[in-house]
Amino acid sequence: MAATDIARQVGEGCRTVPLAGHVGFDSLPDQLVNKSVSQGFCFNILCVGETGLGKSTLMDTLFNTKFEGEPATHTQPGVQLRSNTYDLQESNVGLKLTIVSTVGFGDQINKEDSYKPIVEFIDAQFEAYLQEELKIRRVLHAYHDSRIHACLYFIAPTGHSLKSLDLVTMKKLDSKVNIIPIIAKSDAISKSELTKFKIKITSELVSNGVQIYQFPTDDESVAEINGTMNAHLPFAVIGSTEELKIGNKMMKARQYPWGTVQVENEAHCDFVKLREMLIRVNMEDLREQTHSRHYELYRRCKLEEMGFQDTDPDSKPFSLQETYEAKRNEFLGELQKKEEEMRQMFVQRVKEKEAELKEAEKELHEKFDRLKKLHQDEKKKLEDKKKSLDDEVNAFKQRKTAAELLQSQSSQAGGSQTLKRDKEKKNNPWLCTE
Ligand code: GDP
Repeated sequence: MAATDIARQVGEGCRTVPLAGHVGFDSLPDQLVNKSVSQGFCFNILCVGETGLGKSTLMDTLFNTKFEGEPATHTQPGVQLRSNTYDLQESNVGLKLTIVSTVGFGDQINKEDSYKPIVEFIDAQFEAYLQEELKIRRVLHAYHDSRIHACLYFIAPTGHSLKSLDLVTMKKLDSKVNIIPIIAKSDAISKSELTKFKIKITSELVSNGVQIYQFPTDDESVAEINGTMNAHLPFAVIGSTEELKIGNKMMKARQYPWGTVQVENEAHCDFVKLREMLIRVNMEDLREQTHSRHYELYRRCKLEEMGFQDTDPDSKPFSLQETYEAKRNEFLGELQKKEEEMRQMFVQRVKEKEAELKEAEKELHEKFDRLKKLHQDEKKKLEDKKKSLDDEVNAFKQRKTAAELLQSQSSQAGGSQTLKRDKEKKNNPWLCTE
């Protein structure tokens, strides 16, 4: 039986029974409060806006402290997110406050992808929470929830209209985070211009379908104030940590040659409205909306992407176990298919390689035969040449022997004539020889 059916049955058959005396479960809300207070709270704010729009100053002013941090330069090659966590204490309530600020936002010539690091950061916090939730041994009560509860979107006090960077970024963020748009440095804009600017911004947000956070009006205790404050959005704020003596009181203000602007004076700006709405009245709703709306959407998309469904194609409930089994079988089937494909591919590759090798072997053989024949031809030529040279040498030798023989014969003939002449000379010394 489905859980909803059981709940319906219990609801229908449920009787109201009067108690004869005090039992004590009326202390349940107190127990909850005590437990929550002892655990402490966490709140995470994301400040999105161009460098120098007063993000850090406003955070310091809001929480009445000086959060450390280096001022950002305008030379960043891309947008980065800088996150700092602080432990704050007010009365007996502890708050773990995380302030994430965009560094380098709006400083690049090409601002097309400026929203991406912000979206990735928000998703990464959701993913971390989801992973913790999916763990077998999860410790969610001790887990530091880093999901962004409120996004303060700083709009430059141009008095004209929203920049396309602002519209694109807000549009990309509106399904992921509670956006509270604020006009930064609103002391730079006159009262009448501010009224027109607010109207212009609101109409641009509506016409571009950007969903900004609306203070909830379903709780009677805050419905009136929240309703009124919704009409004041976007808040025009001024930030300053400087305290000046005004009358006989020290007040946060900014001093100019022509006068002083008081941060906490509602006639000067909406700073108090923002502080009331963000911290005093709606902090819990922002946390709740983050979990029940934005995180839920992320979780649903992520699980659907992973193939999980609540119902099967016939709209019948589909348990996690069934989904897991179906997904596992699907995965195994795909794995087998892939394995088979790879095997086929491997066989094909081996065949191709084999053919290539055979071809190469054939070529080598042909080359070898060619070279062998060339070598034989060369050898034959050389042998012929050698033979002709040998013949020449033999002929030469024969000629040489014949010449030598001739020479020796002639020298022999020459020798006997000399002997004869010597003899004649002996007998006749006056005979001239020459
Ligand atoms: P970030 O880069 O957005 O964090 O801006 P900072 O908080 O570092 O502020 C940049 C400069 O603007 C500093 O000189 C601040 O004093 C000044 N500033 C901050 N808030 C305001 C404001 O509301 N009005 C005016 N006129 N200047 C402000």
